[in-house]
Amino acid sequence: PVFEYAPAPESRAVVDIAPSYGLFIDGEFGEAGDGKVFKTLSPSSEEVLSEVAQAGAEDVDRAVKAARKAFATWSALPGSERAKYLFRIARIIQERSRELAVLESLDNGKPIRESRDADLPLVAAHFFYYAGWADKLAYAGYGPDPRPLGVAGQVIPWNFPLLMLAWKVAPALATGNTVVLKPAETTPLSALFFADICRQAGLPKGVVNIVTGDGSTGAELVAHPGVDKVAFTGSTEVGKAIARSVAGTRKKVTLELGGKAANIVFDDAPIDQAVEGIIGGIFFNQGHVCCAGSRLLVQESVQEELLDALKRRMRTLRVGDPLDKNTDIGAINSAEQLARIRALADAGEAEGAERWAPECELPSHGYWFAPTLFTGVTQAHRIAREEIFGPVLSVLTFRTPDEAVAKANNTPYGLSAGIWTEKGSRILAMANKLRAGVIWSNTFNKFDPASPFGGYKESGYGREGGRHGLEAYLAGAAEPTSERSERE
Ligand code: NAD
Repeated sequence: PVFEYAPAPESRAVVDIAPSYGLFIDGEFGEAGDGKVFKTLSPSSEEVLSEVAQAGAEDVDRAVKAARKAFATWSALPGSERAKYLFRIARIIQERSRELAVLESLDNGKPIRESRDADLPLVAAHFFYYAGWADKLAYAGYGPDPRPLGVAGQVIPWNFPLLMLAWKVAPALATGNTVVLKPAETTPLSALFFADICRQAGLPKGVVNIVTGDGSTGAELVAHPGVDKVAFTGSTEVGKAIARSVAGTRKKVTLELGGKAANIVFDDAPIDQAVEGIIGGIFFNQGHVCCAGSRLLVQESVQEELLDALKRRMRTLRVGDPLDKNTDIGAINSAEQLARIRALADAGEAEGAERWAPECELPSHGYWFAPTLFTGVTQAHRIAREEIFGPVLSVLTFRTPDEAVAKANNTPYGLSAGIWTEKGSRILAMANKLRAGVIWSNTFNKFDPASPFGGYKESGYGREGGRHGLEAYLAGAAEPTSERSERE
């Protein structure tokens, strides 16, 4: 069964989206040199939201030059002055958070409850947090005169458009770097609104530049010889291509890539609490989360009880209009992503896993996928190995803690993991053996600007957040190598 989708008019009226947007270079919005544009859609209605300039090589070059020029004065400002700008940006984000939350939900498809209560508060918190560091760098153990790297070329994905921008822009500016940022092609709008916020905050021209476009724009930016630091969040495949393209240059690189996290539930875990953590772990943001708990590892003795409770809870999830405050699962971000999720879910069935989804009405327009559970999954199945990046949970079982560790680590990724048990000693023992950058116990998907975030193995290297996040933008600070990640 289907229902007609109509965006709630009162929510849509909160944000004023222009029919077209230019690139933001040197403090001004302007067309791409060759006049090229692309459309950005609302994935919940397939309505065109706006037409956005597609930056080519020349535009990227102009943006990098503007950032280079601005670097001379921005990096020479006392940290306390840079902090003032960051505080101002943080406050404007708070003031405009309703508008930004609606915009993010329209362009990305995520439920308004999440953009309002998770994305936007975290975005502001990142700017406040790094504003607080800007005048304290000399006391942070980076030496008496910590130096910024120069121009940062930053490329971000579509799953948390404004939050990924905040993770990258706030530490870069706090440390005195200037920025050229490329948002994802399906979610460019919040970065362009952020450009407007930079103007509103009086940020000097050229300190932040936004070049919209697709992967080719990102590749131009990363390869530009005027870029000193590359910060990338996205797929492992593109991360590897970027690592190859900057090999042999002096550029510093941090990569935040994919994941296939295990959420491990022991038989002594409080079941109701674990069910909430599992649901949040995989269905938050439609499962478009790099650290999503996409593999549930459940101890055999509680498998039946846990799966019954999980299915009961999944039946209550509401899929639909992202602007409806009661929605739990919004739209899949694009037709391509929907096709990828469908193909992997079909592979799960074809390879012999058992597929289950609650009865669920999906809207007639837009891109939707019902919350889905696979049981009888083995480690050989593609749905146990590949990142699905959608609302699909693969369930595997274990008997002993050692078996849980072996299964959890049996992946090329190493971004995050969750452990559910009442035993503190077991949490510590497991955490020491799990090869993941972030480990949650008795909770999942908790974020704070003060905690570093990043992966092991093919989930990338370097850390964002916390004081580690500053190191990535300072000369002489420890190099983020994969070996270092392994030791951390
Ligand atoms: P993607 O790699 O396809 O695209 C990410 C960004 O890179 C986009 O802006 C894209 O235009 C750009 N890009 C594409 N090709 C490029 C190239 N050759 N050179 C430079 N830039 C290029 O990823 P996606 O589909 O947008 O995002 C989903 C992926 O991001 C998932 O794998 C997810 O796990 C990962 N992710 C990781 C984290 C993390 O912190 N580790 C956070 C969010 C998302």
